[in-house]
Amino acid sequence: MDATRTIPFFNYPALFQTQEKELLAVITDVCRRGAYILQKDLRDFEANLASFLNVKHAFGVANGTDALIIALRAAGVEPGDEVIVPSHTYIASAASIHFAGAKPVLVECAPDHMIDPKSAARAVTKRTKAIMPVQLNGRTAEMDALQAIADRHGLLIVEDAAQGLGSKFRDRCAGTFGVAGTFSFYPAKVLGCFGDGGAVVTNDDAIARKVALLRDHGRDKDGRVVKWGLNSRLDNLQAAILDFKLKTYPREIARRREIAARYEAGLGDLAQLALPPTPDADPAHFDVYQNYEIEADRRDGLREHLEQRGVRTIIQWGGTPVHQFKELGLKASLPYTDRFFTRCMMLPMNTTLSDDDIDYICAAIRDFYR
Ligand SMILES: *Cc1c(COP(=O)(O)O)cnc(C)c1O
Repeated sequence: MDATRTIPFFNYPALFQTQEKELLAVITDVCRRGAYILQKDLRDFEANLASFLNVKHAFGVANGTDALIIALRAAGVEPGDEVIVPSHTYIASAASIHFAGAKPVLVECAPDHMIDPKSAARAVTKRTKAIMPVQLNGRTAEMDALQAIADRHGLLIVEDAAQGLGSKFRDRCAGTFGVAGTFSFYPAKVLGCFGDGGAVVTNDDAIARKVALLRDHGRDKDGRVVKWGLNSRLDNLQAAILDFKLKTYPREIARRREIAARYEAGLGDLAQLALPPTPDADPAHFDVYQNYEIEADRRDGLREHLEQRGVRTIIQWGGTPVHQFKELGLKASLPYTDRFFTRCMMLPMNTTLSDDDIDYICAAIRDFYR
């Protein structure tokens, strides 16, 4: 084994360096025009994002967390409401519910790492207003089962699709199932910009109007304040960069799916691991592999072994699902999620990895279990 080799978990400089010339042209163009806030590049990106997702409205906002807060408020989630959300998610999902004034009710994930519909159904009370499925790792949750629960109890669905841009369930894009859905363009996300960025999408005209007001000080088209609002706009410069990258995004997804298939080919026979579904495992799902999250026997030993061989891995959320943050006082007993977090970890997954990198990682893992 080549002990001097290093495979970073995510290559941040490569985000810019692989297309430096083209990106500088985009940035120069925007800056020469002095087009910084709520300009044409943002409107173009919003239109192209909506068309990519096949959704009626898309709004660029400051980040994926604001996107969730704005989506929840526009959908009508209010103080006193409860919103069901999986504990296996970023703190931002639960925090957005808190800042919309409602109470996050944490539930289990299922073996596919997505929200467990059975656990969600058990958590419904008279106060439940919405379910927030989290389209984690570039996969879409079992939306039929979740929609059935929502229909039965008259609940809204607001999707956290921060990790799911382009992922589909029954040919429908993540983010477009519920009354509103959200995305993040944090640099390490599948479609990443050079700072913070996010979006809210919806097919509902009334919700769209509220989102447009909430992200820009409650001002209507004539600049009149008609509602309390925030300053949460996606920078025009970031929008121009995202619009440029969206054009070749399907290629990025294709490469991620290739990498997932190569991991499967290299590791699929190891009984000590549980891998994500292969790209073509289930015709109902189209996964974009934001992450490659596995379960592993002797997980900590495996991570140490890989670290010594220069392969950087991480455990999602720093290893702590939301219900384990004691200081937040969110009491929930989630034994499946507790056990899952003793076994889960993420292997490098991004388009700067070569086939040879993947083979090296697979060989190092096989070596550990030998
Ligand atoms: C990244 C992420 C967010 C928040 O996005 P930011 O742009 O960082 O605010 C929310 N939910 C999930 C699941 C995420 O992965």
